[in-house]
Amino acid sequence: MIAKYNNKSLAYGLPGILLQFGGKFLKESTSDPAMNVASSIIILLGFVLLLIGMIYYTKGKGRNPAWCLLAFLSIIGLIILACIKDKTRKRICPQCTDEVYDISFETCPKCGEFLPA
Ligand SMILES: [Zn+2]
Repeated sequence: MIAKYNNKSLAYGLPGILLQFGGKFLKESTSDPAMNVASSIIILLGFVLLLIGMIYYTKGKGRNPAWCLLAFLSIIGLIILACIKDKTRKRICPQCTDEVYDISFETCPKCGEFLPA
């Protein structure tokens, strides 16, 4: 798991989930048409945030961002995403023991040492 993507996925996904639940709660607790429209917009906004969060999450797992379409399943999609295998392969620099996640790097970005394949 690539930490920087994981953090971004939480920053977008968590508010997204909360907005979806908040919007659904609002929609069920009101009969006012204007509030109904507002709650639909809140749910949609939550969905978009969740979608962005899931794109970062799939990138963090080294997976195709198309997996973010599981956002259509809301919380169920999240559970499925959490279960898919992490494809990121981290290598440890033999010189400075820094962790290198990008497979395309042949040398350590920190100290320049050649990385083992
Ligand atoms: Zn190094």
